[in-house]
Amino acid sequence: MSCLFCRIAAGEIPATVVFEDDDLMAFEDINPQAPMHVLVIPRAHISTVNDLAPGHDVLVGAMVRRAGLLAAERGYAGSGYRTVFNCNADAGQTVFHLHLHVLGGRTLAWPPG
Ligand code: 5GP
Ligand code: ZN
Repeated sequence: MSCLFCRIAAGEIPATVVFEDDDLMAFEDINPQAPMHVLVIPRAHISTVNDLAPGHDVLVGAMVRRAGLLAAERGYAGSGYRTVFNCNADAGQTVFHLHLHVLGGRTLAWPPG
């Protein structure tokens, strides 16, 4: 298995896991860009947002909802946080296994760089 996040999902590569169920995992980003920087991934391999099919709608909804719950757990529900899917080169996607960034704990600039 060559995909990095598939290997994390399989437990072959260690990560600081903060949530998991049958469909999803969430773990700390190895290079955090904010006090909270968690990645929410599906266990199943999906490369990018472009590869989502109608059958993934419930899964993606669960990813977004989990992002919100994890941010709320850390106290950022009221102060705010950001959820981001980067897709392909112009967005700077480097890992081609779908992941939702959850960033919080500082003021985040907009528009992004
Ligand atoms: P992208 O740029 O593809 O949207 O984000 C990929 C993210 O994965 C980056 O924020 C990067 O720091 C993180 N990342 C890359 N390799 C690893 C790893 O081995 N473990 C963890 N926990 N995060 C990683
Ligand atoms: Zn994968």
